[in-house]
Amino acid sequence: MLSNSNNQTSPQPVSNLAPVANILPANTPMPLACDACDLEQDYSMRHLRSLPELVCQHCGDRRRFSGLELTTLESALNHMGYYLSKSV
Ligand SMILES: [Zn+2]
Repeated sequence: MLSNSNNQTSPQPVSNLAPVANILPANTPMPLACDACDLEQDYSMRHLRSLPELVCQHCGDRRRFSGLELTTLESALNHMGYYLSKSV
């Protein structure tokens, strides 16, 4: 009894073709808007990667920068063709 009808084809989309990769150094300033007063403030990627507590220069609002935000920020940069230098 041979039943060989189990043909599983799982196509894997290949979309890793970034035309130009721009490497950003770890001290690149990233403007982040404050939740409370909506004013932007620059933080370096090196600083953000340590998941610091961010204190707004303008209104003094403090909040924790989360790992999820870091991931979101990095993937957004990747979509724009920028890659962050992992070496500090
Ligand atoms: Zn603020």
